[in-house]
Amino acid sequence: MNNTRLLYMESMWQTEGEATVEAVIPLEDKTIVVLDQTLFYAQGGGQPFDQGTIEGAKGVFRVNEVRFMEGVVKHGGMFESGSFEVGEKVKLHVEPARRALHSRLHSGGHIVDMALKRLGLIWKPFKGYHFPEGPYDEYVGTIEGDAEALRAKIEATCAAVIADKAETWIEFLPAGELVARGYDVPPIAPEKPLRLVHYGEEFAMPCGGTHVKCLAEVGTLRIRKVKQDKDHVRVAYEVA
Ligand SMILES: [Zn+2]
Repeated sequence: MNNTRLLYMESMWQTEGEATVEAVIPLEDKTIVVLDQTLFYAQGGGQPFDQGTIEGAKGVFRVNEVRFMEGVVKHGGMFESGSFEVGEKVKLHVEPARRALHSRLHSGGHIVDMALKRLGLIWKPFKGYHFPEGPYDEYVGTIEGDAEALRAKIEATCAAVIADKAETWIEFLPAGELVARGYDVPPIAPEKPLRLVHYGEEFAMPCGGTHVKCLAEVGTLRIRKVKQDKDHVRVAYEVA
């Protein structure tokens, strides 16, 4: 099977588009649809998958789950009506409210990174969990002084970052160029393109997730908790 072109990497704010059906695979409890290209975000990088529908001439498919496996995006779900033929052109409808929330949560995680940088805290990013249920960033680092005072300081700095309304822009780069610019190459599947996501001119990170176009769209970012766990620090947040 050909690798699926990941349109959401190139075009993060597009939720309507087209593709060609490459395979329809009926399984016991669901059907898998494979396309030549997709706007549906496949779960990964701490961000949940998109949902929505795929519409053909003679069928509508409800996408419940999207997974990336060895270069191929598998849209799991069921036909609400009819079916697709291999080779037919279909329309993609990504559920926009769900995507928008995931983008705000994902950008929220990087705004915390950006706030730490402004505060001069050199903690090494370890993990990001940007799901609606209890999102957090985890770093290798140590809290110096009072955790509550630090929590309030990070929250105030996040608000200042958001108030600056930086715009998001992207660059696709080979691994060598990322390293040359001082970034770590993220541990992602080799079939995925490497992309540097910039927030204005102040901050950038290699990332395959979806982001807001302007950081103001994140709204209010509250830091729920800053907690030391062995040599890791977990910064839990929420957006409203
Ligand atoms: Zn990211």
